[in-house]
Amino acid sequence: MKSTQFLSALFSLGLTAALAAEAAPVDLANPLQGTDSTPEFSHGNTFPAIALPFPMNAWAPYTQPAKDPFYYQYRQNKIRGIRQTHQPSPWIGDYANFSLMPVSGKLVVNEDDRASTFRHETETAHPGYYSVRLDTWKATAEVTPTERGACFRFSFDEAGDSYVVLDAFAGNSSVEIIPAENKIIGICRNNKGGVPENFANHFVIVFDRPFTSYGTWTPGAIQEGQATLADKHVGAYLKFDTSGNKSVSCKVASSYISPEQALLTLNREIGKADFDTIRKQAEAKWNETFSLIKVEGGTEEQQRTFYSAFYRSVIFPHRFFEYDAKDQPVYFSPFDGKLHKGYLYTDTGYWDTFRASHPLYNILFPEISGQIMQGILNAYEQSGYLPSWSSPGHRDCMIGNHAFSLLADAWVKGIRNFDGEKALAAMVHDANTQAPENCKAIGRDGAEFYKKSGFVPYPEFKESTAKTLEYAYNDFCAAVMAGSLGKNAEKESFAKSAMNYTNVLDGKAGFVRGRKADGEWCENFDPTEWGGPFTEGNSWHWTWSVFHDVPGLIKRLGGDKSFGEKLDGVFNTPPNVKVGTYGRMIHEMTEMVSANMGQYAHGNQPIQHMIYLYNYIGQPWKAQARVREVMARLYHSTPDGFCGDEDTGQMSAWYVFSAMGFYPMCPGTDEYLIGSPLFDKTTITLPDGKKFVVGARNNGPQRPYIGGGIFNGKAFDRSFLKHGEIMKGGELNFDMRSTTDHKWATAPEGLPSSGMSALAKPD
Ligand code: CA
Repeated sequence: MKSTQFLSALFSLGLTAALAAEAAPVDLANPLQGTDSTPEFSHGNTFPAIALPFPMNAWAPYTQPAKDPFYYQYRQNKIRGIRQTHQPSPWIGDYANFSLMPVSGKLVVNEDDRASTFRHETETAHPGYYSVRLDTWKATAEVTPTERGACFRFSFDEAGDSYVVLDAFAGNSSVEIIPAENKIIGICRNNKGGVPENFANHFVIVFDRPFTSYGTWTPGAIQEGQATLADKHVGAYLKFDTSGNKSVSCKVASSYISPEQALLTLNREIGKADFDTIRKQAEAKWNETFSLIKVEGGTEEQQRTFYSAFYRSVIFPHRFFEYDAKDQPVYFSPFDGKLHKGYLYTDTGYWDTFRASHPLYNILFPEISGQIMQGILNAYEQSGYLPSWSSPGHRDCMIGNHAFSLLADAWVKGIRNFDGEKALAAMVHDANTQAPENCKAIGRDGAEFYKKSGFVPYPEFKESTAKTLEYAYNDFCAAVMAGSLGKNAEKESFAKSAMNYTNVLDGKAGFVRGRKADGEWCENFDPTEWGGPFTEGNSWHWTWSVFHDVPGLIKRLGGDKSFGEKLDGVFNTPPNVKVGTYGRMIHEMTEMVSANMGQYAHGNQPIQHMIYLYNYIGQPWKAQARVREVMARLYHSTPDGFCGDEDTGQMSAWYVFSAMGFYPMCPGTDEYLIGSPLFDKTTITLPDGKKFVVGARNNGPQRPYIGGGIFNGKAFDRSFLKHGEIMKGGELNFDMRSTTDHKWATAPEGLPSSGMSALAKPD
């Protein structure tokens, strides 16, 4: 950041500080958080998603060539358009979208030519509204979203040659201009993996006035006056008379089903409403959503960070369904290429989001969560596998069967608007089915060996120890599901394989390790070595991935004392990296080194629950200090506000939970582990209107330690909380202090329980 930019950023922060007490939460959330990222170093790898919660489409400016998935980079100074976007992560990329851009004076259409300089001082980004001054074209572009559509407004300084340029992107697209209706319709097919041949995005754009001229374009040529074009990469341009009103507005919607459905959606979501009305509705929707968790106290920056994280927690997964003429949900299935009734959500990776995002939805949005589960089961019916990383179809990315975790957690939390029996049948299938050659992320890679020997061998299977650990946890989730449905044979079988983590845990070394097919450990073990049998991490990160049997892990690592030393060791071991099979520093390694918390790599998922494990050995004060340290050091509301990939809500949901003072360490159980509440008061409004309040008396940056608690008028002396206790509503008040309290929540009955032992109890 240049010094003048820095000063002006400081100035605007100072100015808003005075207003913060009055600010609506939507004004505190910053969509630019995490956008100062590059492929080499991620401060979030986010883009400013201008969208409603759980949208079908989001809208975003982009500074990079359309094909670059790191498409909005905070340090760049040119904008090429505002696009519809479905991108969950730059590592997955965008698909099926298009963009709009105003230009003036002379007509230019190619993205390099139409790119305009801009400055962050004249850019405004809120979850429900984005505006940017385009200096090159002396124009301002604004966008505000509905669930599936958006309104745009382009305001030109001068009357004259005012254009709007549509880019339907490469990958086969078509446009049709209908001047009599001030309308363009079109199709974009810039699709990515996992979708059938007949997949397409149909869009419709209706302007508020006639065009004075128009045409189509390809990257090589402009066809003036031509109304239709289909080719590898097409676009359209429209010229407007701005001699009177200098603003041109348009309404946009799209459909994966048909152009008729796109129009239906446009009329349903926008109709005759103008830009400002849609903007008000979008902001009201966000304030309504944010009002579900009201935080009081803390600093303004902490409140900004909290609502920015809350926003990021709920912009994925994307609704993939649309509402038909009878207001019934319908969707085009990316799995079988057919139209279906019901729900489907997509653009998310469960490897990330099973941890905290979905558990958050199970508290705040159980109805939506149930729809997500229905969608997961629909995907199973249509493709033969539960999704793992879908965008919108199956992607070959990451590991584990974490749909098991989503389904079991929703079920345990009492969500019943999905079919439990179907869920269990799908789990049984996937647990026993080798992943197909072209997509190792679905089914189970190494299923046969794992079933026979209780682990996945290295090097026959990549990342095999990480896979073993996650399959074992997933099997625990399946056992929970089976137990709840009274299916004892399945429960016993899954409960047994849930203990398979022990097969990759070397008690002598005190770490999980790679194991060869003959049962011997892989040689030359070094816990700082990344890759090989591990996924995006090393053994310091993966040894904790035993969510469901922490007491068992403690026992196998030598008991409380030695387990505590091992947890401390994560922070005390220098952040040295052996790059292992990666052969080079990947960004997750660089981010761990720069966080400078030893081997604690909060920038990636495997270790994100580890701090809370201190509660199990009666050292909750260490968890309290560390969660507050992570919140203070590794999260900010700014463009450099994350310490690694944000990952479709997971890194943000970690913050939302941790700031509230509790965390779902083991989804699939009904327990949350207590950390250290960040705010003086946090009020959660539950779906039935009841409130659950977490209070923290005498709280402050130097006072992270809990010295005692009162829950609904009674002493609270345990480091866990039950889901039912939250959902009943109530008030949990903590006394915060600056020095550690070695008594609170350290008696055996104050310690969290093991998922496995809960499973062993009769139902
Ligand atoms: Ca990650």
